[in-house]
Amino acid sequence: LKPLPKNSPVGRLGDNTFSRYAGVVRFEQLPLSKKTKDALRASKFVSMTDIQRASLPHSLCGRDVLGAAKTGSGKTLAFIIPVLVLDEADRILDSGFKRELNAIISQLPKRRQTMLFSATQTKSVQDLARLSLKDPEYLSVHEES
Ligand code: ADP
Ligand code: MG
Repeated sequence: LKPLPKNSPVGRLGDNTFSRYAGVVRFEQLPLSKKTKDALRASKFVSMTDIQRASLPHSLCGRDVLGAAKTGSGKTLAFIIPVLVLDEADRILDSGFKRELNAIISQLPKRRQTMLFSATQTKSVQDLARLSLKDPEYLSVHEES
């Protein structure tokens, strides 16, 4: 298992992470950062649902997961906790969200992989610098009309 970046939202995990956290029932018991735990507690998420209990010990140590559980069983938190996502990047980069985006970026680990997808393509050096994209591949695909 690869070690996670320092400063990662999921904390630093060793090889025996899975066995250590298999069977835990509360978010509080997982190796999550204080910020993540505080946010979960503030949102009244205390006990994990079955799919969260089953998957988080694997996903938090970097394993791929294929999880099946019925609608309403809490699958969103099962993938949101191990992955920090900025969708609708072009809209978010609009100045209206400057404060919110800066707050989010300030909490991201320094060492990370950043993928920016949007309907429009930004090549603005300023935008890319804010998101710390390093030497990104520019990929543009347009359907033939
Ligand atoms: P799914 O994607 O599996 O259909 P959701 O992720 O949308 O389910 O979650 C369904 C509901 O359960 C949401 O309202 C969510 O806030 C709530 N929920 C998820 N996990 C927990 C939890 N651990 N404790 C309490 N409520 C939860
Ligand atoms: Mg869902």
